[in-house]
Amino acid sequence: MFKSIIDIVIPRCCNACHGHLTFGEKVLCTSCRHQLSVTQFNYCIENECDRSLYGKTSFVKASALFYFDQAGILKALLHQLKYRDQQQLGVFFANWTAAILKQDSCLTAVDYLVPVPLHWRKKHQRGYNQLHLFCKRLSKLMNWNYAPQLLKRVNYRDSQTHKSRIHRSFENNPFELKTTVDLSDQTILIVDDLITTGSTMTHCSNAILNRYPSKIYLLSIGYRSRFV
Ligand SMILES: [Zn+2]
Repeated sequence: MFKSIIDIVIPRCCNACHGHLTFGEKVLCTSCRHQLSVTQFNYCIENECDRSLYGKTSFVKASALFYFDQAGILKALLHQLKYRDQQQLGVFFANWTAAILKQDSCLTAVDYLVPVPLHWRKKHQRGYNQLHLFCKRLSKLMNWNYAPQLLKRVNYRDSQTHKSRIHRSFENNPFELKTTVDLSDQTILIVDDLITTGSTMTHCSNAILNRYPSKIYLLSIGYRSRFV
């Protein structure tokens, strides 16, 4: 009752369509929520995200929460998360991810949950890593160890947006492992907001595997399918 009154006095808006949220709705209205295309990847059965990364790095399994396409609302939501400081979206996506992982997943135990790091200059410019609240929330819900310092980005580059896939794939590894802990046989989940070519995930994974034979799992919020 009290929340309903608050919604009338101070209306909350949907992050996608900017329409008013009604009681029970958080971050997205029900209509926009239904426009998100859940992949139903679950770390059990081989999926197209796995197949797109084969041969690039020695990971165990990969997964993503939603399919990403240029016309869908996920593109706008990830842009808000990344550039507009709408970090509540990270929490929203983490809640959704945890619900799926708890209900239907072959990945149940993770020793270190590691976000793809930003270079310090980019983090300073943006003010935050867009993956921080997503990973923090997910690690809390899953009781996994959040390890944002494990990897470090040592090369600063401008946005990859305008670079070709081939160009990105062959660049030197911009990530370094920053730990004295032995990660042999440890299960490490690397998290990014979007998998397109897989080059960022590949670099992060290889930065770890070059030092330790870890069990690498990959997770992103969005996955750009080659078939959409
Ligand atoms: Zn909406």
